Amino acid sequence: MNRPHTAIIIGGGIAGPATAMALAKAGIEATVYEARPGGADGTGVFLTLAVNGIDALRAIGPGTAAAAVAAGFPTPAITLRTHAGKRLGVTSTGGALADGTVPHTIRRADLYQALHSQALAARISVLHGKKLVSAQEGPGGVRATFADGTQARADILVGCDGVYSTVRQLIDPAAPAPSYAGLLNTGGYATGVPVDTAPGSYEMIFGKRAFFGYAAAPVGRPGGSPTSPSAANPHWGRPRRSAPRPGGSGSPRCMRRTPGQRWSSSPPAPASPRSSRSTPSRTCAGGTPAG
Ligand SMILES: Cc1cc2nc3c(=O)[nH]c(=O)nc-3n(C[C@H](O)[C@H](O)[C@H](O)COP(=O)(O)OP(=O)(O)OC[C@H]3O[C@@H](n4cnc5c(N)ncnc54)[C@H](O)[C@@H]3O)c2cc1C
Repeated sequence: MNRPHTAIIIGGGIAGPATAMALAKAGIEATVYEARPGGADGTGVFLTLAVNGIDALRAIGPGTAAAAVAAGFPTPAITLRTHAGKRLGVTSTGGALADGTVPHTIRRADLYQALHSQALAARISVLHGKKLVSAQEGPGGVRATFADGTQARADILVGCDGVYSTVRQLIDPAAPAPSYAGLLNTGGYATGVPVDTAPGSYEMIFGKRAFFGYAAAPVGRPGGSPTSPSAANPHWGRPRRSAPRPGGSGSPRCMRRTPGQRWSSSPPAPASPRSSRSTPSRTCAGGTPAG
């Protein structure tokens, strides 16, 4: 396959605009196609941006990483407790970068906003109301068809369409579908609730059939004052919605198709522009669906 110059990115959540900006750095013009009719500003609760994620955003653009970090607050540690309050221990949420940056808790909507603002500034188009339904590869590239009947063409197609990824199913129809793991989760934030923990430390309290986690946000950050609990972080309480693939490592995967045959799965590879170029396929899955 010749060097790609254009890309269709399916999904305008978190991975979509990030991938588009990364591709732009590699000289590939990407357009993002998002199923939702409008943006997701204000949707979702919290997630933790790990240091490798912050590092990846820096590789895309220092401004992107700075905007994301500025919108969150540092959460370097987790304290684990029993239901009776007994302290079981403290653990790191994931170390620190060379400059001392630690994992940050950020509202999903703020991360979304930071990434989309930066993508807009980089002149990346994000088209809404474009739900991918099928994709066909040909010698000249990939043709994507959307639920509204419109089509788009590009040299490659990258799936950033979340846990219920259509792209993943198109690449590998035999891939296991997400399955309910028996765990329910909810999260939110509140002000005016006194707690005795320092800002930046998660408290995770184990019960017999549930656990509760919270972190206090610094003044001026989402959640309110130093004495108000902030995120009950959905990340740790989330159901594992994708069943593991047999022999899978949990690493991102790209898929390839051998000529004249059905899709097959390649060995785990980074979900990056490099990995999609290094396979013969023009269609690749990144972000959530690959995990
Ligand atoms: C609205 C929303 C709120 C969320 N809130 C939280 C949260 O509070 N905490 C947390 O830990 N995680 C949350 N998540 C999940 C989290 O964002 C992702 O797991 C993670 O950030 C990886 O991002 P992603 O871009 O791979 O997937 P997502 O962030 O899930 O983005 C996938 C995008 O693809 C779009 N899409 C799906 N199918 C198609 C299709 N066929 N054609 C075109 N577009 C398609 C979706 O509408 C979505 O915008 C949320 C996801 C969404 C969509």
